[in-house]
Amino acid sequence: SDHALTYPKSPTDMNWATHYPAYALSKKEEAGDEAQGSGAQNPKAITQPVEIADIGCGFGGLLFALAPNFPDKLIIGMEIRTSVTEYVQEKIRALRTQAASTTTNQPTYQNIACLRANTMKFLPNFFARGQLSKIFLCFPDPHFKQRKHKARIVSYTLNSEYAYVLRPGGIVYTITDVEDLHNWMVGHFEKHPSFERVGEEEQEEDVCVGVMRMETEEGKKVTRNGGVKYVACFRRLEDPPWP
Ligand code: SAM
Repeated sequence: SDHALTYPKSPTDMNWATHYPAYALSKKEEAGDEAQGSGAQNPKAITQPVEIADIGCGFGGLLFALAPNFPDKLIIGMEIRTSVTEYVQEKIRALRTQAASTTTNQPTYQNIACLRANTMKFLPNFFARGQLSKIFLCFPDPHFKQRKHKARIVSYTLNSEYAYVLRPGGIVYTITDVEDLHNWMVGHFEKHPSFERVGEEEQEEDVCVGVMRMETEEGKKVTRNGGVKYVACFRRLEDPPWP
């Protein structure tokens, strides 16, 4: 239950340094920040904000594939199941250790992390307004029954939360093998004033689209079963000026 879920009171309370130790601010940098009046509130800060979020990341296939594609960006996987979160964290630790002991130009995996969270409830506790440039919703659980629609990861209310944490120009990526859910997601994003659907050509040129089709665990399963994968991406629009 949520009682067992830990989440920060606000984004500035989040201890990111434990998740990205290679990006932790040194004591000296912190002191410098403090002198300038920021940083003092958050001694657990890192040198740059997390920018890419994989919502319901499961076993982390997307994270591991994105890591070398975006070596300068910090990427976070968020997952509600404890054992699955621990599995991903353990794998990241192992890959980091392995990379540290080789001298070749391998990815370091210092830029990915996974944390346990109920993203349907606490997203704005983790991210400040406009912090993210990409959000992935890969094969979210479909919840067919009418009365369970509220449990869907895409709804008008949740789309407003995605809009809040995403910067203008940022992209929400969605993929599912359930056509009904695809139509539901497209319908809800298209009618939301903060989003427009990304055109087919631009979508297919985006490296992230290929990665989410081929590298997510669910994507691989659908390929094995010969199923269809429905993809849709949505751009965060600028907010209209205040009247
Ligand atoms: N994205 C992965 C992939 O494409 O292979 C996993 C897809 S799996 C079908 C959906 C995942 O979302 C599960 O691991 C589930 O535990 C997680 N999940 C469901 N509801 C969630 C929530 N409210 N917050 C975070 N994760 C959630």
